[in-house]
Amino acid sequence: MSLPRPVCPYCQAQMRRWPLGQPVLACDTCRRPILRYLARPRARIFRLRPVYTVIHAVALVILFAAVATVAFGGLETRHVILAIGIPIAMFGASDIADGWLSWRTGVDRGWRKLRTGRVARAIGVARTAFGVAGVAVAVIGLLAYGELRQPTRPAAPSLAQQSTR
Ligand SMILES: [Zn+2]
Repeated sequence: MSLPRPVCPYCQAQMRRWPLGQPVLACDTCRRPILRYLARPRARIFRLRPVYTVIHAVALVILFAAVATVAFGGLETRHVILAIGIPIAMFGASDIADGWLSWRTGVDRGWRKLRTGRVARAIGVARTAFGVAGVAVAVIGLLAYGELRQPTRPAAPSLAQQSTR
């Protein structure tokens, strides 16, 4: 059974034939990993989506859930840092990867707009920098989370354990 050649959802170029049973395939033109999933199992209809947008969608759901939980007052301050730091780190990491690929391949997709060539490369560098900044903010937040955790821990027994080692 041979499948028809799929069209890349990121850059609209034709991809190679999808190997059977493989969920992720990288596009040869834009080099983005593309996820294939069963959208309607009954009709055996598959959809293709760039892994980048899947990560963004998941991070967005986590962020909304975190904000909703904070709004209903269910979280301590230090947990808010964790709940918001994780999606920001996910956004940052996926932007680093996607921006780097934009720079390497000269293919970049923003909000529904596909850019190629030098503009795409410039946007790629900017998005990588933006991603690094996002990850840095998230790491600082998570370090602060660790710092805030320390006073609740009993300090004396851990010091005693260290001295005996
Ligand atoms: Zn592509």
